Amino acid sequence: KEYIPGVVIYAVIAASSIFLFNRLITLPIESAPIIGTVVLISNVLYGIMIAMAILLSIIAVHRGSHSAVFYLLAWVPLFTTIILRLAAIYGVIEMGTLVMNGMYPAFALEALILSVGIAGKIREQRRIEGAQRLKLESLASTDPLTGLYNRRRITDIAETTLNSITIHQPLTTTVAVLVVDIDHFKRVNDTWGHDVGDVVLKQVAATIKQTCRSGEVVARWGGEEFTVLLPSSDSSNALKVAERIRRNVENIPLSRIKPVSYRITVSIGLSTAIANETTFVEQFKQADEALYQAKESGRNTVRAHIAVA
Ligand code: GH3
Ligand code: MG
Ligand code: MG
Repeated sequence: KEYIPGVVIYAVIAASSIFLFNRLITLPIESAPIIGTVVLISNVLYGIMIAMAILLSIIAVHRGSHSAVFYLLAWVPLFTTIILRLAAIYGVIEMGTLVMNGMYPAFALEALILSVGIAGKIREQRRIEGAQRLKLESLASTDPLTGLYNRRRITDIAETTLNSITIHQPLTTTVAVLVVDIDHFKRVNDTWGHDVGDVVLKQVAATIKQTCRSGEVVARWGGEEFTVLLPSSDSSNALKVAERIRRNVENIPLSRIKPVSYRITVSIGLSTAIANETTFVEQFKQADEALYQAKESGRNTVRAHIAVA
């Protein structure tokens, strides 16, 4: 938007000078003195405008504006050729071919450099917008308490993973989904308060995250429940990962948070499926059923969904 006034003024000046020039060369010879005066005035005005623009650009460059460098590069040659031509017209220097026509390439150069400058400015603007969008996206896909991905983000990743694996990998790639739920978490809140509950949540989140390798996706599904996606893992490997998570959570030194001998434990349900043969919603439901089994069998344990053939 800030370019619009400049572009309009420039277009008006360019159009009127072309118009005037075409009119002037068709006028009878008697009007030569008038033409001379008009040309002198318009040239002087034009010179003053460009001189001012150059001055403003120098100030802007001085204040650290990068785009003003382009204005300077564009206008200094033009200004110089105009001054040379005026000087020649009024007999100060000799009117050679270069002095007479130097203005035209200078005009072309001006247009070129300004275009490059404006394009650069637009690119810079896009870059800033892109960075802002990334920041917003990351905010929208992160759980503020634990810093893990949220439900929305892991759902996106899981759907993409389940649908696109066969393009790059063997047809039989299996994907595992773990649902991790803290046991009797309500007791933690009820006994030591919500704030301690939050600290425990963060601790469990960090423990799950540390237990998983890069490429394995951990998210807070909601409340005291977490979801882990193992993009290429068969059921025996998934069981190992789940068991590692269960054991590491059990070993969280809660005494550092509260001087008590209470142990935080989790129950985990898991489901493995062959990519492209199921949806994430379906697979999650199976893992959730397995989680229910784990809770039923006394908690602090891992259960896998058994596929019924
Ligand atoms: P179970 O072993 O059957 O899972 O029992 P539970 O007590 O963990 O399960 P329940 O669903 O009854 O309770 C979950 C509790 O988690 C209730 C809720 O207050 C607590 N909770 C959910 N989100 C948060 C949170 O962000 N911070 C804290 N401090 N507590 C939370
Ligand atoms: Mg629970
Ligand atoms: Mg729960």
